[in-house]
Amino acid sequence: MTVMSHLFYQSRQPRPTLDYGKGIYLYDTDGKRYIDGSSGAMVSNIGHSNPRVLDAMKAQMDKATFGYRLHFQTEPSERLAAKTAALMPKGLDRVFFVSGGSEAVESAIKMARQYALTQGQDSRWKVISRHPSYHGSTLGALALTGYDPLTKPFAPMMREMPKIAAPTCYLDTDNLDDDQRGLKYAEMLREEIIAQGPESVLAFIMEPVGGASTGALVAPDSYYARIREICDEFGILLIYDEVMTGAGRTGKFIAAEHWGITPDIIALSKGFAAGYAPLGAMVARGDMVEAVLDAGGFLHGYTYAGNPLACAAGCAVLDEIASQDLVGNSAAMGDLLKARLTGLMDRFPFIGDVRGLGLLLAFELVSDRKTMAPLPKELNAYNRLVDLAYERGLIIYSRRTRGGLEGDHFLVAPPLIVTEAQIDEIMATLTDSLEAMA
Ligand code: PLP
Repeated sequence: MTVMSHLFYQSRQPRPTLDYGKGIYLYDTDGKRYIDGSSGAMVSNIGHSNPRVLDAMKAQMDKATFGYRLHFQTEPSERLAAKTAALMPKGLDRVFFVSGGSEAVESAIKMARQYALTQGQDSRWKVISRHPSYHGSTLGALALTGYDPLTKPFAPMMREMPKIAAPTCYLDTDNLDDDQRGLKYAEMLREEIIAQGPESVLAFIMEPVGGASTGALVAPDSYYARIREICDEFGILLIYDEVMTGAGRTGKFIAAEHWGITPDIIALSKGFAAGYAPLGAMVARGDMVEAVLDAGGFLHGYTYAGNPLACAAGCAVLDEIASQDLVGNSAAMGDLLKARLTGLMDRFPFIGDVRGLGLLLAFELVSDRKTMAPLPKELNAYNRLVDLAYERGLIIYSRRTRGGLEGDHFLVAPPLIVTEAQIDEIMATLTDSLEAMA
């Protein structure tokens, strides 16, 4: 195991050195094989070393790897914008490329603000988001993020943005049915808008299915439609952060399709170039973009935006998703994997909940399934189970957060190319890891 002395990330914990990847597997330099059970951080949607993508990148490399966006349009970026727009809800047909999810979110809120200015709505600047949530690590996106361990140290450096509770219905003890619960949580947005003063609110941003912050949290159907209605009632823009949920992860190309919702802006990244290049996109309503361009232009941009190599990768990724029907496979394998994870609840009483959509799935560990009381923090379950699985050659992703409380949840989100036999393999290793923890 190599410990690099100059490179640093979050902690001092050393990790094996990655050698290569193939399909859903990764191999370290000692030859050990890992199942990429979380697609990295829900990124590698089409698996590793896909020949179509590698060939497309090599071909583009022979032509040009950079052309500054203010000097040139490039063929791959034009092509990717057209492909992306064709996959979005009607009306969302203008695409702005970036290099990652945080940049996509920053771009979304700045587009929203500039559009409001074109409408004479200078007073609108607050972006309401949810708690818990994750929207990125740059200071603008972090201000929208509802995850205290990450935000608190930087609070004095950020403009505080209003938050409402994420719809953690599975923790509720009231007697409401699903539909009523969805409406209850949506109503919190209406109340917050009124409390803030509607004329000051610019946008509401949400992850349609929660990611790392909530562990694949899905709201009742009623929530999504009601949120759209509330935004419309007050003239507030609705931003879907589909950085994790986009590109087929939940069994539709974007999660918004599950509920037939048309947001005003969508942020994409992660599976969009599936780890082959740093790429993200902000997709906005055409009329909004036209208004901003008419008013002098979008006052925002990144040097690497629209990079032709990244866009060539993105085009090939979208082609692969379409030609292999990976969205369909995500839905089918997601149903299978969710049923198998749910089956673990019979064997392990400390699994309190299994949730998610498509191949964005999670399970949560509790000390009491009836009360959903979390495991004691000292057990360090969220690290222990990840380590036990890692030792056995399975990568899963964990966090200790839920609602305003703490709880250990684990994301299981393999590449969308996963087969039934590979799901058996994931389940066997996971079961063995849970046995070791029990
Ligand atoms: N938004 C969501 C929903 C995410 O899950 C993430 C990353 O996990 C981001 C934004 C930030 O993306 P990035 O890490 O590429 O900047």
